[in-house]
Amino acid sequence: MAGNYVAAFSLGLTGGIGSGKTTVANMLGELGAALIDTDLIAHQLTVPGGLAIPGIRTQFGDEFITADGAMDRAGIRQLVFADTAQKLKLEAILHPLIRTETERAATEARGDYRIFVVPLLVESGNWKQRVDRILVVDCDEETQINRVMSRNQLSREQVEAIMRNQASRQARLAAADDVIVNNGNLENISEEVLRLHELYLRLAKNKH
Ligand code: ADP
Repeated sequence: MAGNYVAAFSLGLTGGIGSGKTTVANMLGELGAALIDTDLIAHQLTVPGGLAIPGIRTQFGDEFITADGAMDRAGIRQLVFADTAQKLKLEAILHPLIRTETERAATEARGDYRIFVVPLLVESGNWKQRVDRILVVDCDEETQINRVMSRNQLSREQVEAIMRNQASRQARLAAADDVIVNNGNLENISEEVLRLHELYLRLAKNKH
């Protein structure tokens, strides 16, 4: 996995929806880490010209491709929502592509060490073996709900439904090597982010 000058050390960063993963990842990125955002990679597969579009067209038909050549998100969501077989077919297209594209991004990434930002890291078996260390961004559930309601214009019920499909807070914390508690304001966490960055730099140096 080692690139030209990126250390072999890699961090997995996760947290529940709205915990502040992206916020913390960006702070570590500013300090010099190379970010590999698996959500972004997955999203790019289904935009116009995305690598998953031919497979989706073949599997589900032209009616699931929009006029501009993207995956029809609403249509696919509806299709897979209540039908596990269809959901598995979609995942069989997306998951191998996410994997190869993530590996490609990791090879191309430049920085002091790599951070894989993975919303479902704890839920998806093999990520734990693929990274050297796991950082969990944690916050209490009420804060999580309020943040996502206002960021995504969702109702409390919709946010709670998403949270029910994610690992519990306890399961995530059990997998963590490091935890950032992000309940308050951002100044509160910047010191902790810096301390962890310095730790990761040391670990990265030792792994070269
Ligand atoms: P995630 O990537 O885990 O879903 P984000 O980093 O996108 O979470 O944070 C969710 C929302 O909450 C964003 O709108 C972000 O700006 C905001 N946010 C994150 N942390 C804080 C904080 N400590 N104080 C105030 N707002 C925050």
